[in-house]
Amino acid sequence: MMKTLRSKLLLFFMTITFFSLFVIAFVSYNSQKEAMETQLERSFQLYAQGLITSVHNIIDEVSRDVGYLSANPVLKNPDASTEEIKEQLEEFVTYFSIFEHVVLLDLDGTVVADIADGRFIGYNVKDREWFGRALNGEANFAEIYFSSLLEKPVSVIAVPVTDNEGNLVGILSPYYDLVHLWDYVYAFSELQKEIGNHAYAFLLNEQGDVIGHPEEEQILTRNYLRDFNLSESILPELAASDGLFYNGQNGEVGMVRQIPHTDIFTHNWYLGVAVPEAELMSPLKNLLTQYLMIFLFVLAAMWLAIIHFSNYLVSPVERLLKAQAEFSEGHKPDPVPVDSYQEINQLSSEFNVTMAKAVERENIHKKSTLILEATDNAVFAVNTDTLEVTTFNKKCETMFRKNKSDVIGATVKDLNESSESFRSIEEHSGLIKRLETETSLEDFEFTCPIDGEERYFYILFNQLPASENEDKKEILVIISDVTENRMMLKQLIQSEKVKAAGELAASFAHEIRNPLTTIRGFIQLMEARGIGEQGNSRNYYQIILQEIDRINGIVGDLMNLVRPNGNTQLMEADVNELLEDITLLYDGQVSSSKVAIEKELDENVPTFLTFGSKLKQVFINIIKNAFEAMPDGGSLMIRTSYNVNLETVDIIFTDTGIGMDADTLENLRKPFFTTKETGTGLGMPTCYMIIEELGGEIKVESEPGKGTVFTVRLPVKLKDAGLKGA
Ligand code: ADP
Ligand code: MG
Repeated sequence: MMKTLRSKLLLFFMTITFFSLFVIAFVSYNSQKEAMETQLERSFQLYAQGLITSVHNIIDEVSRDVGYLSANPVLKNPDASTEEIKEQLEEFVTYFSIFEHVVLLDLDGTVVADIADGRFIGYNVKDREWFGRALNGEANFAEIYFSSLLEKPVSVIAVPVTDNEGNLVGILSPYYDLVHLWDYVYAFSELQKEIGNHAYAFLLNEQGDVIGHPEEEQILTRNYLRDFNLSESILPELAASDGLFYNGQNGEVGMVRQIPHTDIFTHNWYLGVAVPEAELMSPLKNLLTQYLMIFLFVLAAMWLAIIHFSNYLVSPVERLLKAQAEFSEGHKPDPVPVDSYQEINQLSSEFNVTMAKAVERENIHKKSTLILEATDNAVFAVNTDTLEVTTFNKKCETMFRKNKSDVIGATVKDLNESSESFRSIEEHSGLIKRLETETSLEDFEFTCPIDGEERYFYILFNQLPASENEDKKEILVIISDVTENRMMLKQLIQSEKVKAAGELAASFAHEIRNPLTTIRGFIQLMEARGIGEQGNSRNYYQIILQEIDRINGIVGDLMNLVRPNGNTQLMEADVNELLEDITLLYDGQVSSSKVAIEKELDENVPTFLTFGSKLKQVFINIIKNAFEAMPDGGSLMIRTSYNVNLETVDIIFTDTGIGMDADTLENLRKPFFTTKETGTGLGMPTCYMIIEELGGEIKVESEPGKGTVFTVRLPVKLKDAGLKGA
């Protein structure tokens, strides 16, 4: 299957498009991905930076505000009353609303001044680390811790207060509302929620404790490092790195930054920004699906285009192949359309031309075969080396009474042995010897009996052109039966002779008749006057007169023969009636010669237009001959019959006379041929001439001693040939 041009084209183009598309998609997807990641990183950086700035601002503000408070002269004065101090503290908290509370501690760590209800008075904090540091003169932020007193996380600041001489007089300890710090963390998460993702910010201290988170319950209850099994060193590392980090344990991607220190804030706090990785990746996933869809769409479109294109390339080739196959199988395909691309068009039109030529050649071949089979000549071909017969037409089959299939491949010698008629021809023509020697192959004519009938043949030889890859020599032998031709020629010569003799005789007859009439008249006169009435002279007169009458008869017959055109008149004749009339004439003779005339006249015989008196002449001649053939009596049967299909009338005369031998039969048409002592030999030629003139024919069957049958067949419709005589 992969061997076809179509499949190869498809495979080739599809592989190419698939790979190129794949590479393009892969490269552009990856670059898009990178760009997206960078963008995401940058936006995280921006978020983190913004948050850090905000958180730092708070811490900074707190630091500055506390510095301002510690410089308060009332507080610096050791002699100031508790009331005065309280007033100052309350004023501070009112002014700087970020602070929730502030107390003054003595150097023992006991609260000596409080605001409002003074519930912290007497509370001691000397164990706290931040208090110790403050005693050492170091203002500091305490770590955020959960105050059991306030029941919430607090961030305490410790600031030493000195008198004008610089002696430590007390420790100020305000604490601010952490909500101010957390607000940024909340706000960021809320904003992210609004734009549809779950990114959030959080604050961690150095130990990994969560000190700020949108979910308040996590604050101071979770430790990031512990929860995720991370070492403490990871936070400064992440803060120093530029990029995103991936937390495989909660599936989040994020970024960590450290909050800068101030004079009094020296803790290492970290701000984190995180988002579930799936969310971060969702635009990338969308991108991937988009790419995949575009990829598939383009691939499908390409495949369609390729299939179309390969169809365009292959279909005309297939069409051509199909036509070629059909042609090889012997069908004649329709011409291949010339409507594709140039190369195939060229091929197609060349194929069409070749096909048309081949079809024409085949037609010619068929025609010549048809001619060969239809011709009236016997045609066969012989290989002159082997004497093998290679062609044998229909006429040969009938002439030699052999089947073509039996003869083809056999030699002419085999044919000579198996076919009698071929043998007869071979005997009279020496055909095989001529073919063998090949030197005397000239056309020639010969006669030879076939089925007891002498026939004339003309043989023609033709050297057949050898086909390209064969060098065998073949001779075409054409045997033409020219018997009819020769017979017609003979008849023509004969009738020409008769015509000439007739014309001559006609002029003689005229010349003879006139003096003969005169002589006869005088002899009658002499007889009547009794001139020379002695002895036998009377007898002599009789003999002279008889002989003169005989001459007259001959001349009369002669004139009938040579003037067949005379005495002609077209008339509506009834053959039966004609025959009745004639036989009436013979009635007298019948009784004396003991010849019986019988008649069977067909009533269906129609009357038809013909030369009536000439027809009468024919019938008289035939009846006269019949009577003369039965000197000792006999019977003459006259029958008529009408053939409706052929539209012919048959008049049949059957006598029981002496009959005719072959020689007489052959010479019947010849003028002056007679077997009778007193015959003229002109009766039958006259009959033939008249009947043939009327388009009819005469058939004779006779046997010596048995009798004769004359059949005159006449067409009811006068043909042109008949009218010519008029
Ligand atoms: P003719 O009668 O003058 O001899 P035809 O031309 O009429 O000349 O006849 C030619 C010859 O044909 C006759 O001499 C005779 O030998 C033969 N012939 C014709 N008709 C018959 C017949 N019915 N029976 C026997 N011989 C016949
Ligand atoms: Mg006669």
